[in-house]
Amino acid sequence: MMDFIDYTLGRCEAAEFLVSNSSDTRVECWAPGVLYLAGNGPRSLIISAGIHGDETAPIIIINQLIKQIFSGELEVVNPCLFILGNPDAIELGVRYLDTNLNRLFCGAHRSIAPCKESARAHLLERCVERFYTIYQDTDKLHWDCHCAIRGAVYKTFAIVPIVTHELSLLNHMDELQHAGIQAAVLSQLATNTFSYASFQQFKAQAATLELGKALPWHENEMSDHQKIICYLIRLLADVEDEDETIATDALIVYQIAQQIIKTQPDFHFNFSAEIDNFTPYQQGTLLAQEAGAEYHVQAEREVILFPNAKVELGARALLTLTPCSL
Ligand SMILES: [Zn+2]
Repeated sequence: MMDFIDYTLGRCEAAEFLVSNSSDTRVECWAPGVLYLAGNGPRSLIISAGIHGDETAPIIIINQLIKQIFSGELEVVNPCLFILGNPDAIELGVRYLDTNLNRLFCGAHRSIAPCKESARAHLLERCVERFYTIYQDTDKLHWDCHCAIRGAVYKTFAIVPIVTHELSLLNHMDELQHAGIQAAVLSQLATNTFSYASFQQFKAQAATLELGKALPWHENEMSDHQKIICYLIRLLADVEDEDETIATDALIVYQIAQQIIKTQPDFHFNFSAEIDNFTPYQQGTLLAQEAGAEYHVQAEREVILFPNAKVELGARALLTLTPCSL
């Protein structure tokens, strides 16, 4: 039996994959890796994964959810667009082919030379627009699911855009806790990520979710992802979480303190390459240096996020964060 990963990677035709749907849910393939499920619920959901091709766990989660839906085990109430972001990169098990797809949304793909990822960003933007246009009057949600390159003090965390318009942050934080997310980073930066585009253009409640460390296909322990899987099942079925043990203030919330950009080829960090995300440093600590510049901790204490000295010149090499209250 062919599944959504097979179809997305070109191992079967859309029709061959769609015949395995024995449920009452109306399903359409809008493009390879883009599956539309009709629904009459009050919320419209975009659940995406594989924007970076080597972040396998969320791809497996989506595939399993679709299997459960197709078998009739899971009833879809809220309409949903499932997206596997970068099929060519997924096939090869790499983060991307030509450039980082998650920097090309909000139309940013138009300002680079045409490549695999620019074409894919354009296609995904049109699919998102088509979906949210059908469900204009619903409560829009977009979770773009990733895995981090390195380990982290918190296994699961969210990057939540807050830059252009008011959002009910408390509702958003509550939702994240029910999804099993341990920490949230409120980002006031306009970043051209996939989730930011849905937030900015369609006023969707959106976030990038980091669901543990990126691992090869067979090394994932899916039992580690049980909370997010159960949450997504409830979301699709439009049922409330009955778990009242979830404290509304257990989520750790951070804001961005510094965004450090690599501007010279000799850019390097002053800490080990194996460092975990959210590792704290005291004021004054030298974090990174490059020809003509040194970057220090400015606040009393800052934690680091997404260090990557190998990014292209002009790209972000590091974020630092400070705790904040809502
Ligand atoms: Zn990613």
